[in-house]
Amino acid sequence: MNEASLLARVPASRRGLVLGIGDDAAIYRPKADEDLTFTTDLFIENVHFRARGPGAISAEQAGYRAMARSLSDAAAMGARPRFCLVSLSLAPWTTVRWFDGFYRGLLGLADRYGCTLAGGDLSHTPQVVCDVMVCGSVPKGKALRRDGARVGDVLYVSGSLGGWRHRPMPVPRLDVARKILGRATAAMDVSDGLALDLHRMCLASGVAARLDVTPPVLRGATLEEALHAGEDYELLYTAPKGVRMPGHRLGTIEKGPPGRITLLGKPLSPHGYDHFESRARS
Ligand SMILES: [Mg+2]
Repeated sequence: MNEASLLARVPASRRGLVLGIGDDAAIYRPKADEDLTFTTDLFIENVHFRARGPGAISAEQAGYRAMARSLSDAAAMGARPRFCLVSLSLAPWTTVRWFDGFYRGLLGLADRYGCTLAGGDLSHTPQVVCDVMVCGSVPKGKALRRDGARVGDVLYVSGSLGGWRHRPMPVPRLDVARKILGRATAAMDVSDGLALDLHRMCLASGVAARLDVTPPVLRGATLEEALHAGEDYELLYTAPKGVRMPGHRLGTIEKGPPGRITLLGKPLSPHGYDHFESRARS
């Protein structure tokens, strides 16, 4: 295989773009009344997934998950995905079949949310490395940020938690993002565990949080996993009391040392997924 023949296997689309794949860069023309959001996420073999041996996932699943991570970040901002740039570095063991499967998984999910592949890069490395950059758009000034939670706000999570072991194909909650846009005061996605991500939201907002109930737990998962495992990709968000919101009510934003979280009256340690641990997620 060579670069040109691999590139020819990736279906090209120009939907939403002035210029798509094929030139030195793509062109997207933003509307006057929108803000653009940008996010990028690395997905690395033996760090974020295994492609061979015990715990291996298929090429299609790998592509799906690489895209889901970045789409979830767009959702966390309340943005509608517009286009993505995908850089993929192939390992010596990969085949054309694996390549096709990877893009099938990746583009299948991107298409579902109207996210056009605008370009990217191909290379080779000892292990598979993929970087997905997603650009989204949101009505001007309306993006959901982490720093907007206010004392007295109610805290919600969009669905059950339990971590990557119990959720092989996480769904980016773009559906929830649409519903809470314009109503939520703060939002983020749960990528590194509820405790750590809520801690980050509270730090950014300069507030503390009180969890009055345990979060809903995925079937087969433990409460410990629901609190501290990563890659759930549900949304965590706050809204003033009295505003009708979708999802599960977890507790209240309160005054206190920024970042402090309590669960049923006891301090909750903000530990979660550590990117610098050596174990691979499978
Ligand atoms: Mg995030």
